[in-house]
Amino acid sequence: MIDKKTLLLVYPANQLRAGFLINRDTKFQPLALGILAALTPPDWKIKLIDENFRTFNYYKADLVAITGFTATITRAYQIADIYKEKNIPVVMGGIHVSMCPDEALQHAHTIVTGEAETIWPQLIEDFLKGQLKHRYEGALEQTIRSPKPRRDLFHPAYIFASIQTSRGCPMDCSFCSVTAFNGRHYRFRPIEDVLDELEETPQPYVFFLDDNIIGYNSEARERAKKLFQGIIDRGIKKLWISQASINFADDDEVLELAAKSGCKMIFLGIETEGLEQLQEAGKKLNIKRGVSSFNDTFRKIQKHGISVIAGFIFGWDTDDEKSIMNRVRYIRACEADAIQTSILTPLPGTRMWTKFETDNRLRLKNFPEDWQHYDYSDMTFYANKLTPEEFYPIMIRAFKRIYSFPIMIKRFIRTLIRTKSILVAIWSFRSNYNYRRMTFSSMKIKDYKRHKY
Ligand code: SF4
Repeated sequence: MIDKKTLLLVYPANQLRAGFLINRDTKFQPLALGILAALTPPDWKIKLIDENFRTFNYYKADLVAITGFTATITRAYQIADIYKEKNIPVVMGGIHVSMCPDEALQHAHTIVTGEAETIWPQLIEDFLKGQLKHRYEGALEQTIRSPKPRRDLFHPAYIFASIQTSRGCPMDCSFCSVTAFNGRHYRFRPIEDVLDELEETPQPYVFFLDDNIIGYNSEARERAKKLFQGIIDRGIKKLWISQASINFADDDEVLELAAKSGCKMIFLGIETEGLEQLQEAGKKLNIKRGVSSFNDTFRKIQKHGISVIAGFIFGWDTDDEKSIMNRVRYIRACEADAIQTSILTPLPGTRMWTKFETDNRLRLKNFPEDWQHYDYSDMTFYANKLTPEEFYPIMIRAFKRIYSFPIMIKRFIRTLIRTKSILVAIWSFRSNYNYRRMTFSSMKIKDYKRHKY
């Protein structure tokens, strides 16, 4: 009888805060693990434990593969340690592991840095020969040739199917690890591959995981148009959301085709309205466009029946109470349909991380335990102008004003009028409501009240 090997894939969840997991519609499929499963020989038995839905329980396996973000890596290491103790080989990969390989090697037998699909078949071969190396380095392919992920392994309760069509970003914003992990070059998957995958996803809703679905140059824009046209031509009837930069609104044809192909919402990283903070963020495109242009951008997108989620960050070095409250006023008046807020978090691999580490300004640095605080809802470093005791109460006031129900209802009515779509208005309202729940639960408002901040 052939000895059938078992591969266990683990997608850990942050044990401290629920974050995106607090709402079912903000949970996203572990795409990378689905791709690894697809690259594993068919005679392997594969099991996926996805803590987005179910807490990890020990499962016997021959090989274990765990991925994680910085905020989930504490949990990832806990699970890895269980298998390491039993001498079962554990492979770890993902953004955090790629940025902190030496730390990860203390918990895993093998680590994969970079994009894993290029080396996974080799890794499996080495494992079968008993020659698993400690480190594999994935290459950045110019044309991304990912196989279709094993979607049958994903939990059926996911509302959105996750699909990626491109990787990489040339912008290298100071707080973002995309450039460090996926490289400066904007790289594409072949359009036909994406369309084939879209046709096979069971969910009616899709989240294109790309960091910028239309890229930064004319070649990328043309590719996006071809992708959207391909969706229309094949008669694929999915509703989709994605992320982009403010250049999404530059080309009417892009907006028209995006809308026709099912785009209902787009996330734009505005980050801040203040010039000083935009400079700190290194957000060149937003600086170039000027804050005064943002509402026009939102309106242009909304005219095509697409709503805008605008992302804002608090806790810049140049932030004080006045600048934070100015941002709150700006956000309350701004015409985006939903608002996502986060607290500046220096992630390993970013320019911001290097700066804070070099200047010895990390506040929470008992690693790996403290990584679970690096989830955009905690003050993980010593800010220039505000102590944590000053910062948290200001932020609680800020969040209460940003997510007040009268403002959320006003946004709902405006979205309905502008997009002429009740569905889009409801989605946008739900997004605001979800962000409100996430933010309030993360900031533990009741705790702060109790401490009379
Ligand atoms: S924040 Fe957006 S634009 Fe900036 S580096 Fe990250 S992905 Fe690129």
